[in-house]
Amino acid sequence: MSDSRPDPSDGLCLSTRIHHVAGESVFDCYQCGKCSAGCPLARDMDYPPSYLLRMLQLGMPVLDEQVLTSLSIWLCLTCEACAARCPKEVSLPRIMDFLRQESLKQGKVNPKAREILAFHRSFLDSVRQTGRLHEVGLIAMYKMRTLHLLQDVLTAPKMIARGKLRLMPPRRAGKAEVRKIFQRTSLTEPAIAPPLPSSEPQRRGEEPS
Ligand code: SF4
Ligand code: SF4
Repeated sequence: MSDSRPDPSDGLCLSTRIHHVAGESVFDCYQCGKCSAGCPLARDMDYPPSYLLRMLQLGMPVLDEQVLTSLSIWLCLTCEACAARCPKEVSLPRIMDFLRQESLKQGKVNPKAREILAFHRSFLDSVRQTGRLHEVGLIAMYKMRTLHLLQDVLTAPKMIARGKLRLMPPRRAGKAEVRKIFQRTSLTEPAIAPPLPSSEPQRRGEEPS
């Protein structure tokens, strides 16, 4: 059944939507760069975390597009090192999470992130199906998605022999509850965005105060 509600993203720049959905203001960032200096993945990212925030602050469609198609948002490990270092308490992991969802929703995932996305999906599918993570199921789904069928294949028997990998998923109570959580969280965005604080731009192109 199609969702007939208006798209809350219509016309709003990413910084505004991040504020609505993730509760974070990119305008709190004053570009000290401590997050980028401490991020273990910054060197591999196309835009380090503080660069991404600056792009979002500018609120230009072309920069929003570059953020959504960046590899950075998929490389982020949600390790929280940036959030722990930030003097302004900006939660970059929360912002990255929103950006990944948005990138996926808009079909703008960076092609280099294909395998990362396959891992994310396989992880969530495993939790959805078994009520918790089942590593062998995760590996099987990941391999089917990426066709890396022989990758690490010699490591698996050793891990199984040492009891590090269980072939069968453990029976767990609460499987149905986990499924319900997945169903409930399939809509993560409010249908109608709450009113904006006057200090934030509401439409693309408006300058932050
Ligand atoms: S540490 Fe905080 S204030 Fe500094 S650049 Fe990063 S997000 Fe901005
Ligand atoms: S949470 Fe993401 S952006 Fe922040 S330091 Fe870790 S990897 Fe880098």
